[in-house]
Amino acid sequence: MSKRIRLAMQKSGRLSERSRDLLNRAGIGVELRGGQLYCQAAAFPLDIMLVRDDDIPQYVADGVCDLGIVGSNMIAERLEARGLKGKVVTLRPLEFGRCRLSIAAPSNSGIQTLRDLDGKRIATSYPDSLKAFLNEQGTKADVVEISGSVEVAPAMGVAEAICDLVSSGGTLAANQLREIAVVYTSEAVLVRTTKSIDQEVMIAIERLTARISGVLRAEQAKYIMMNAPATAVDAIRRVIPGLEEPTVVPLHGNKQMVAIHAVAPEPIFWETMEALKIAGASSILVVPIEKIIE
Ligand code: ATP
Ligand code: ZN
Repeated sequence: MSKRIRLAMQKSGRLSERSRDLLNRAGIGVELRGGQLYCQAAAFPLDIMLVRDDDIPQYVADGVCDLGIVGSNMIAERLEARGLKGKVVTLRPLEFGRCRLSIAAPSNSGIQTLRDLDGKRIATSYPDSLKAFLNEQGTKADVVEISGSVEVAPAMGVAEAICDLVSSGGTLAANQLREIAVVYTSEAVLVRTTKSIDQEVMIAIERLTARISGVLRAEQAKYIMMNAPATAVDAIRRVIPGLEEPTVVPLHGNKQMVAIHAVAPEPIFWETMEALKIAGASSILVVPIEKIIE
């Protein structure tokens, strides 16, 4: 029996859908039904463990799982802030689950800067990240650890300020809280254990990582095709920065015109299309790319 990767990802929550979706787009074939804790991928040597996001850093650090998909905030809290950073390596950021860990206080409280927090209590589910940050900043506040609904702590008299994850800021505003400082920013990452890994599994991990990179690059990139006078090729290349070595082929029956085909590494906006037209291009087509392998 061939050896398989063990990957931990969030069972249900903000990261689960995007994690599944990413694996599926990488051709992994995960069919997950509600309530399942374990699943074998059909189309790849990969077994998936569905767990709470809080437990993922430790599973990967201990080598119980080879890989994990988790917010970098959890890696920071569970490993980095505890001196265990070297237990995992980040293979790549995954471009979803973006948020920040922020300190906030009631808008009407008079607490406006970190200095105003001296001697105050801050409620959080991220005690170790917060303590490290306060130490670094020389702020002497007390950290009160609570496991959920941190945003109501000031109203309940549990603390004068909070430290919690924020994405749009809507929850803070709804609770009349004002952001004072950002502890760190976070996004979902693919991490690997630094414990020794079987050679066969390591090769599968490299294949999986390359596929994930391909999916994420393809998401950004567009394939662009246009016709143009041969003399306009250089001007057109200057319109799209990063447009590497486009394919330029003569148009049948028209010696002055060429077709230009290229992968643009970033989305093409209407303004860019208009600039291409001004540079001499016509019949400009922009199409999505499904997969890329370098
Ligand atoms: P679990 O049951 O797995 O412990 P949870 O309730 O602790 O779930 P979620 O709220 O699902 O966790 O958040 C999971 C991750 O999503 C966070 O650790 C963070 O990386 C990311 N995230 C992105 N935006 C936000 C946000 N606005 N608030 C909270 N988490 C966010
Ligand atoms: Zn959690």
